[in-house]
Amino acid sequence: MNTNTRISAYLRQAVQRQRLLDTARQLIAVPSRTGEGGAVADRLADLLHNEGFTVERPAADHPTAPAVVVRFTSGKPGRTLQFNGHLDTVHLPFVPPAIVEGRLTGSGAADMKGGIAAAIEALRILRDTGALTAGAVLLTAHDLHEAPWGLGQQLNALISEGYVGDAVLLPEPLCDHLPIAGRGNATWKTIIRRAGEPVHEVMRPPEEPSVLAAGAELIVRLGRLQERLSAQSDPLAGSPSVFVGQFHGGEIYNQYPQQCWLEGTCRWLPGTSPAEVEYDFRALLTELARDTRTRIDVEWTFIRDAFYLEPNTPIVQAFQQACTTISGQPLPPGPKLFVDDGNSFYGLKNIPTITHGPRAGGQHTVKEWVDIDDMVRVAHLYALTAVFYCQEPQ
Ligand SMILES: [Zn+2]
Repeated sequence: MNTNTRISAYLRQAVQRQRLLDTARQLIAVPSRTGEGGAVADRLADLLHNEGFTVERPAADHPTAPAVVVRFTSGKPGRTLQFNGHLDTVHLPFVPPAIVEGRLTGSGAADMKGGIAAAIEALRILRDTGALTAGAVLLTAHDLHEAPWGLGQQLNALISEGYVGDAVLLPEPLCDHLPIAGRGNATWKTIIRRAGEPVHEVMRPPEEPSVLAAGAELIVRLGRLQERLSAQSDPLAGSPSVFVGQFHGGEIYNQYPQQCWLEGTCRWLPGTSPAEVEYDFRALLTELARDTRTRIDVEWTFIRDAFYLEPNTPIVQAFQQACTTISGQPLPPGPKLFVDDGNSFYGLKNIPTITHGPRAGGQHTVKEWVDIDDMVRVAHLYALTAVFYCQEPQ
C-alpha cells in the first residue's frame, strides 16, 4: 500500500455515514426558499458550534440570513481549500426529508443540502483523523443563489470581503465529469412602445409606427446576430447565443397596439466581457428604435459570468489524484451546462473552482433525491483532495 492509498483508507474509515445522513436531514428539515435562508443557516451554525468548530456569521449584505463560515486550520503553512455551498432552495412547495431505497429525498436534497452535508462530513473527518498536515479548509454556506429570487449577491459580498480560499470545491449535483468550461448568462426583457393613443385599426394615423412589426424585426435582427455568434465556438462550452422565449403584444384583434414585449437570454463564452455583450445588445435596440420610430426599453439582468477551469492547475491535479486513488481513474473533462457559484469565483477573483457533488436528481422539482452512498464517497473525496492540495507550500 503506498502512502496515498493508506491516507485514503484511513479517511474512508473515519466517514460516519449516519452522522452525515443526520446532518443532511437536519438541513433539509428547515425550509429555506431563496431569500429566506436565516433559519437553516442558524441550524447549521448551531450544529457546527456544538461540535466544537468556531463559527463566523458575516452578514455579507444579507442580514436576515448571515452566512455560515468555519476555518479549520492545520496550524501549518500551506494552501487553503474552500468548500462552498448555497443553503437556499427554489420557490416550490416544501417537501420534508425521507429515506427511500438508498436515497435521501426532500427539498434541497439534490440542490444542494446533500452536497453541503458531505462537505461538512469531510471537514469532520479531517479534524477527527488529524490528516490535514498543512494549510486549511474554509467552509462557507450562504443564501441568495437561485435565480430569479437571488442573483448570487451574498456570495459576491463574501468573495469581496475575502472569505475565499486558493481554490474551491462546490458540491452541486454533478459527478460524471470534470466541468472545464461554461457560458455566462444574462436575461433580458424589452418593451417596444409607440407614442400615440390606443385606437381602432381603421382610425390609425397613416404614418403611425407598428410596435408588432418592430417586435418582429427585432426577432429577425437577433436571428442575424445569432448567425454571427455561431461562428465562435468552444469545444466544450459550445457557442454564444441570443434566444427569444416570449413575444407578447396587442389587446384585441382590431385595436392598433401601443406596446409589445419580448423576453429571452444571452449567453457568452469565457473570455468575453459581460459588459461588452450588454453594450452590443443595447446598441442593436437603439438602432432598431431609430429605424422603426418606436421607443424601446430594456431590463437587462446579469445572472453569472462565464466559467473556465485551467486543467493543469494544482487543485485539478490534487482532485484528479484523489479521484484516481478512490475510484481507479480521473474524471473526464466536460462542459458546465448550468451556471453556479464557480462562475462567480472565476469571474470575480479568478479562483479555480471544481463543481463536483453526490449523484442526485430532480433539482428544481418537488422530487429531489440524493444517493446516500455517493454522499459518503464525496465526503471521502473532499477530505482526500484537501490533504493532497493543502500540503503544497505557497
Ligand atoms: Zn444549486
